[in-house]
Amino acid sequence: MTEPFRIAISSCLLGERVRYDGESKLQSWLVDCGDVVWVPVCPEVEVGMSIPRESIQIEESCDGIKLLGVESRQDWTEQMNNFARQRVWQLQAADIVGYVFKARSPSCGIGDVPLMGALGQAVVGKTNGRFCDVLMEMWPELSIANEVMMSDAKQRVEFLQRVQQTR
Ligand code: SF4
Repeated sequence: MTEPFRIAISSCLLGERVRYDGESKLQSWLVDCGDVVWVPVCPEVEVGMSIPRESIQIEESCDGIKLLGVESRQDWTEQMNNFARQRVWQLQAADIVGYVFKARSPSCGIGDVPLMGALGQAVVGKTNGRFCDVLMEMWPELSIANEVMMSDAKQRVEFLQRVQQTR
């Protein structure tokens, strides 16, 4: 019998109601993943944001990339960066072999998150979610995917084969 392997995942994809609107994004492909132990992570809730909460977005500024409340302009950048570094160390110590992120999230997205210009007026590009960005910098060899890739059977099998080979 093969040992189950541990993959981190954005909590909302597992059906946890942690999104800004109090809802989840439960994924039907989870049942097709075999012996995986899913390890849920919600950076926004774990960093101290409420459920529900205001939307946040990533903006350019003269001080670099910022993670800000859309209405309140509350600056979560430093808190999220500090939290992310601690959480990545925890995950590295917990035998995690891969990570499935929620697409387009300002915390979890992989390269598909709208980047707003200064003052948040207009989209000027695409970037990583803040938590994902820290993880990718600290742990570039970790296999990552998002739920769009995992919904595609071929990409799902390739991801699961890749993470199994890293064990
Ligand atoms: S996308 Fe990430 S930060 Fe947003 S609710 Fe899901 S796990 Fe939490």
